[in-house]
Amino acid sequence: MRKPKLSRLLATLAAVTLSALGAVAVDPAPASAALRNVCYNTSQAGPFATYAVQAASIWNNYTNNINMAQCGSNLVISYTYGGGSYAQRTSLGNGRVVIDYYQAQQYSPLRIMTHEIGHILGLADNYNGNCAILMSGGSAGTSCTNPYPASAEAARVDSLFGFAARSATPAQVFTGSWPAPTVVAAQR
Ligand SMILES: [Zn+2]
Repeated sequence: MRKPKLSRLLATLAAVTLSALGAVAVDPAPASAALRNVCYNTSQAGPFATYAVQAASIWNNYTNNINMAQCGSNLVISYTYGGGSYAQRTSLGNGRVVIDYYQAQQYSPLRIMTHEIGHILGLADNYNGNCAILMSGGSAGTSCTNPYPASAEAARVDSLFGFAARSATPAQVFTGSWPAPTVVAAQR
């Protein structure tokens, strides 16, 4: 007696689930002509994959014209041991971010991740020591853990992705955003 009941229950659940999926499918989000997917790949990100997901969520929340998702390999996230974190932008929204494992033990790994992705999204470094500025990077010190772009930084990304300015965003490699602490440097 139990098995038929269970089967019916599962069939009902499946029908409800399919119904819910169907409801989603026929009710798509409003499309934006300027919205552009930035597909990132965390298969090489190791322990930093979760930070990549968090950083992508931050960028999605702070901008209107991009949608970061794990839908491809426009942006490959990886990590290394030593040498410094960096971003290698091949074009706007495309390239590679490499996180230095050791550096991420000194500086906030989420701030490093969001900063380096900022380069891929078109931003330059701005070493002014201000923790409120994401692109100030390591100049704000190891105590700065702010992973959020300032409004002007987010607006710049929206501007780049919202208009035909992609050709004005050259390929570039950004290194040295996260200098080693002075104490460590002095020991060398
Ligand atoms: Zn940088």
